[in-house]
Amino acid sequence: MRVGIGYDYHRLAEGRKLFLGGVEIPFNKGLAGHSDGDVLTHALCDALLGAAGLGDLGQHFPDTDPKWKDISSLKLLAQVVEMLRAKGLRVAQVDSVILAQEPKLAPHCAQMKQMLARTLGIEPAQVNIKAKTTEGLEAIGRGEAMVAQAIVLLESHKL
Ligand code: MG
Repeated sequence: MRVGIGYDYHRLAEGRKLFLGGVEIPFNKGLAGHSDGDVLTHALCDALLGAAGLGDLGQHFPDTDPKWKDISSLKLLAQVVEMLRAKGLRVAQVDSVILAQEPKLAPHCAQMKQMLARTLGIEPAQVNIKAKTTEGLEAIGRGEAMVAQAIVLLESHKL
């Protein structure tokens, strides 16, 4: 078994759609980024790559490459899952936390779980997502940014 941790921090900007865990969430701002800015999916990708000993997201999908411009981060996740498969690894469990002051994310967590689990090829029950505010403190609390953290457990097929 292998564990991995992922962390990502994105700025919120006007005129962008908000994507978290592959789900479009109605809000007056969205996460800035070269892709769709999906901070949760990026943290999850980094956790998976870390557990597999495959470096990080920026290494595989550089933000200097126009190929990844505005791409759905679920597509990046699907490619990461392929890399794991090629190494004989499968996802046993995901836990994660999103730090965001607004909007309320709890009503969207079930759908995010479903989208991520489907892309990972596992059951929604193997994916956990928590949403927290920072009680108004710092950049996240001022509505300038969102953070996500993810931790994963991988199992090897080749035992
Ligand atoms: Mg990112």
